[in-house]
Amino acid sequence: MKFFELAQCLEPAVPGGLARAPYLRELISMFTTVTEADWATRRDPSSLPSDSTLESMYSRDAAFPKKLAMAMCAKFDAETLIRAMDDLDLAVQELIATNIEAYGEHIDLEDFPYEVTELLVRILHDKAGLQDKIAQLVRQARITSMRVRYEKLLLARSRGCTNCQAPQSVKSHGFSRDSYDIVFLDDTDEVGPDDFAVLCKGCAEKYDLAHTSADITQLRKRNASLLAAESVDAGLAPLGLETKITALLRVINQLPLDEIVPDPGYKVLPLQEKLDDASLIRSCRDSMALYEKYVRKEAQTLDSSGALDFELMRHQIVSAWFTMRNSGMSQYQIAQRLSQWIDERTNIGPYACQVLVAFMIQICDLFAPKKVLSA
Ligand SMILES: [Zn+2]
Repeated sequence: MKFFELAQCLEPAVPGGLARAPYLRELISMFTTVTEADWATRRDPSSLPSDSTLESMYSRDAAFPKKLAMAMCAKFDAETLIRAMDDLDLAVQELIATNIEAYGEHIDLEDFPYEVTELLVRILHDKAGLQDKIAQLVRQARITSMRVRYEKLLLARSRGCTNCQAPQSVKSHGFSRDSYDIVFLDDTDEVGPDDFAVLCKGCAEKYDLAHTSADITQLRKRNASLLAAESVDAGLAPLGLETKITALLRVINQLPLDEIVPDPGYKVLPLQEKLDDASLIRSCRDSMALYEKYVRKEAQTLDSSGALDFELMRHQIVSAWFTMRNSGMSQYQIAQRLSQWIDERTNIGPYACQVLVAFMIQICDLFAPKKVLSA
């Protein structure tokens, strides 16, 4: 496929029905970047050719000067093109893909921004005689397209800098602005969302300057915890369950303080059999010695009146734990994360949520030790 053919296929990406020369200038500026000083000068590939050159270039490859192809390669900016292709409506992407298929090139719609970029990289570098640069650029385009694709997901998941927990946006003089970079972790063949980390500007700069494999391992470990935390959110989001848990939490919170007395018959053994985290054993023991009998009674009342589907709640919390248990978080951290999540959704208060999680640990197969297969 030649440049003029691809350019014609890409016309739906540039609305406005421009004439040939202004259309090609617009298209060229979609995949090249020049500094402000070079903008609209001869160092800007979209300004370099004359209107008549562009007119001819629109319909014949022979009219496309090699020198212009070299200038385009020098200023090629995959990210600008990938973002422009990613922003197109699906119908426009489909139209462009169909246009390109007519030239015998297959474009996978799932991977549209990358596939168009790859095609253009090959065409331009063939024309410029710079074939040796193609592999590296295609690889870079693959990483960039994945970063663009997963950007929203990564930002939502990270809740701040993955390294130092600095917030994603900084506030000054009443305005907030984004302050993050997304770095690529290392050269894996398959690139997925877990191969990137969201870092604050400072940490990203340091990472780009130099990083060790230990740094990468650390960031990957944090990514795994973030992923697990996200699974908790997803696993704990059944329709309407929040309001039902709320009823139970409210009861815990409304128990009069002077009526709550520790249960002298409370046995800590079941907790010790499940937990190996001393902090979590102590905090659950304290909660349960005080609250177990109340929570048990109230959960039964709410369940039998239909106000709480206890089995559903148990199932949700157990499956959330299940996704987190191999995340590298300690048992205490997992329990904290569970109660924090319930608190965010119910707004009754963090203490009641901790009591509820302790209760679930006490009575369910939550934090059950891994089964050891006997020989
Ligand atoms: Zn940071």
